[in-house]
Amino acid sequence: MEKLTNISLKPYNSFGIDVKARKMFIIKDIYELTDSFETAFASDKTWIILGGGSNILFTEDYNGNVIKIDFKGIQVLDITAEHVYIRANAGEEWDNFVNFCVENNLGGLENLSYIPGSAGASPIQNIGAYGVELKDFFHSLEAMEIATGTIKRFKKAECNFGYRTSVFKTALKNKYVICSVIFKLDLNHKINRGYKAIDEYLTQNKINSPAIGDIRKAIIHIRKSKLPDPKYLGNAGSFFKNPVISKKCFKELKNKFPNIPAFNDKKGYIKIPAGWLIEQTGWKGYRKGNVGVYDKQALVIVNHGSANGGEVLGLANMIKQSVYEKFGIKLEPEVNIIKS
Ligand SMILES: Cc1cc2nc3c(=O)[nH]c(=O)nc-3n(C[C@H](O)[C@H](O)[C@H](O)COP(=O)(O)OP(=O)(O)OC[C@H]3O[C@@H](n4cnc5c(N)ncnc54)[C@H](O)[C@@H]3O)c2cc1C
Repeated sequence: MEKLTNISLKPYNSFGIDVKARKMFIIKDIYELTDSFETAFASDKTWIILGGGSNILFTEDYNGNVIKIDFKGIQVLDITAEHVYIRANAGEEWDNFVNFCVENNLGGLENLSYIPGSAGASPIQNIGAYGVELKDFFHSLEAMEIATGTIKRFKKAECNFGYRTSVFKTALKNKYVICSVIFKLDLNHKINRGYKAIDEYLTQNKINSPAIGDIRKAIIHIRKSKLPDPKYLGNAGSFFKNPVISKKCFKELKNKFPNIPAFNDKKGYIKIPAGWLIEQTGWKGYRKGNVGVYDKQALVIVNHGSANGGEVLGLANMIKQSVYEKFGIKLEPEVNIIKS
């Protein structure tokens, strides 16, 4: 285990916010995690588990222990006539894992290509993109209970997956460290090309019978064209969740705003793209000093240089306020906002 003190977290968060942490533990395997349990968790009341730092906003110096989960590895556990059970250790880079699956012709996760972050964080908000959510191919996970240091297996039903949420973001928030995640992937996978942009890419490239590798290429191409690369422009992807409202509220809004886009959600509910709401309130492309709203996607707040977390949060709050004033909808952040 690597121990660092008084360290800048700038390289460890995709927003590129330059805050300091009092201590940081970089944990390289599961035994280090269970062995260091006392030092890392019990020695300080304040701690945070960190993966790739791509869904986090630090708003001030972190006056506690940062525990970075960095144990990597991918193992095929079982192969049946139709499925493969495969495990990713928590510190494995998510997209590296997806690439491994695609290269080995294991279908399911290709629509989730190029999402930054670690495999261990992927169940926390049930990552999703292009018509697929993690839960669709999730089998189970192993996690260490922080109070006792014991390892527990969670089956899918116990994870309470929902839109950008799970039990680890709600009732069990900060109670477990996810150590590894097991997926059940298809050997005869049915490709999901339902998104217009995927279909357009395939048509333009004259791909009539796409393989999962073609879908991965399409997704990477689309994502690169729409989203800023945190290496060059700090961000954490979508800052807000898409709000889900009742059909009754939607009818009222539709009378006032006939062009409002909408998608069916669970029975009786409608999901509205938050990016559209933000665009309608005039924020797309906004910039003041070091913070702004990405000019190609209004849902992404960006750090143009040396913004601090307070500035990012301040902009997020102004956006939230104007969306509320215009549409009566309260946006909720998707990003985890950290105060120590
Ligand atoms: C450019 C860009 C595009 C993005 N696109 C998408 C997208 O399409 N869909 C999507 O869903 N998300 C997207 N995201 C958000 C982000 O990539 C995901 O949420 C990702 O799963 C975060 O992983 P991470 O390892 O970086 O987590 P971190 O940011 O390090 O942590 C996120 C949360 O999980 C907790 N955590 C991390 N690891 C563990 C662990 N092992 N055990 C317990 N808790 C843990 C942390 O304490 C924190 O609360 C995007 C982000 C960026 C920057």
